[in-house]
Amino acid sequence: MKTRSAFLTLLIASLLCFGCSSQAQKTTSQNQNKNHMDTTNLKNPYYSRTDTTVLNVSDEEWKKVLPEDVYYIARNKGTERAFTGKYWDFEGNGTYYCACCGNALFKSDAKFGSSCGWPSFYESIRPNSVIYKQDNSYGMSRVEVLCGRCNGHLGHIFDDGPAPTYKRFCMNSLVLDFEPDTK
Ligand code: FE
Repeated sequence: MKTRSAFLTLLIASLLCFGCSSQAQKTTSQNQNKNHMDTTNLKNPYYSRTDTTVLNVSDEEWKKVLPEDVYYIARNKGTERAFTGKYWDFEGNGTYYCACCGNALFKSDAKFGSSCGWPSFYESIRPNSVIYKQDNSYGMSRVEVLCGRCNGHLGHIFDDGPAPTYKRFCMNSLVLDFEPDTK
């Protein structure tokens, strides 16, 4: 009888322990998911700050996952009104990512106070973080700047920037996503 009682106690203890273990695993998994969500966009599965794979996503698909105003700039090559964006006169230290795909685009070190009314940078964070395309729309000859990962329209580049590059990346705030440096 004593042996049977001891066996039952051991069985119950094992079952309880298994339950704790499962709960612990579940909690860890939930925390991992939460950490993952901190740097991704729940509605936009293409947004990642770590995945550098070049994307080939249709405009139809982008329309489903991007806010309307961001879609208008990135996929319809729109332009936000000067002096209305959230970053044109913003001075925080950190990194600017593509608001569509999470690709790192510019460091705040390269940002300068431009009077044009749009956030302006003299260089991109890496040469291939952006791509360039001739743009002859509206009777002008300009060079368009697109995200190197998602091919979304960011703005244009001009030759009237400050040293050391003398370039001015004239960007739309709506397609930028700023993350402050952590110290
Ligand atoms: Fe992008």
